[in-house]
Amino acid sequence: MNTHWLNFHIPYACQHSGACCASGWPIPVERDRVIPIRTLSGREDDSWLLSVGEAPADVAGTLAVRANGECTFFRIPTSGSRPTSSALPAVAGCAVHPVRPSSCSHFPYVCLVDPRGVHVTLSHYCPTAAALLFEDPGPIAIVEGPSPVAGFAIPEGLDARESLPPLESPNRLMTWEAFSDWERAEVGKEPTHSSLADAAALFEYARVAVPAPWAWASVPTDLERHWAALVAPAWASLAGVVQRYRAAKVFASWSAHDEDGVAAVLRVAAIADAVLRVETVRQCVTAGRVLDADLLKQAIRQSDLLIVHYADARVLSSGTTP
Ligand code: SF4
Repeated sequence: MNTHWLNFHIPYACQHSGACCASGWPIPVERDRVIPIRTLSGREDDSWLLSVGEAPADVAGTLAVRANGECTFFRIPTSGSRPTSSALPAVAGCAVHPVRPSSCSHFPYVCLVDPRGVHVTLSHYCPTAAALLFEDPGPIAIVEGPSPVAGFAIPEGLDARESLPPLESPNRLMTWEAFSDWERAEVGKEPTHSSLADAAALFEYARVAVPAPWAWASVPTDLERHWAALVAPAWASLAGVVQRYRAAKVFASWSAHDEDGVAAVLRVAAIADAVLRVETVRQCVTAGRVLDADLLKQAIRQSDLLIVHYADARVLSSGTTP
């Protein structure tokens, strides 16, 4: 089966930043991984495996997490200093890497599988993935590339192989060929930014789509003033990064298979653009300086933490207030 990527994502390779392993996420462990993990780790007491209430039949539990959010199998560097999520020494890593759970193997890939093949985009919460947005390989294009996850001919993701093509309007389906043409045209477009007031409203839509017990910070106060003082002076110089971020939201979007079809894809892309602008202001205000590449990278990471990992995807693409 062919695998399709955005050209700027093609160089992705895990650099063991540890961001995913220190996120505090409840990572499911498949039943067939329990004995291999127990054997490799030497932890016979299974204190590393937390039971969960209503887990799918093939899930034995979730990985135990340390008080600081690190996975129990995240290796501490031998230097003695504790790792941070943004700059880990090379010795940091996974103590059970060869037999790690499937979710670990699949991060940061976000895959859509349909009759045309596998389509791969990335979660830019991963700092290595986010850094790729800052590399300019020329015009944005959809290209063929390798299967993303070793050992999986078809990676986990949204399996739409038995689905009809997306809707182009409420009463009209596309053909798969027309959808491919639409994707190729859309990924090359520049974002059409809404007003800051509209961006704040779209951001709020994403924020309240985060299910309890999680929560996300509100829009920073004085958004327009901070934007003018701290973001606007450098925003245009980073337009290529923002354009590639939008392309990564349009391509391989699971929202294409929601009831609004490609309209839902564009809606989520607009929400992502709004979230990015709000989080960019937040980063600049927190750092107390004008936008630069590092602050935009952190804003992108936070935006995908909200959009990809925290917010309810069905709410985001539905267009209705939760
Ligand atoms: S099992 Fe390994 S790869 Fe997965 S979160 Fe833990 S340390 Fe990271």
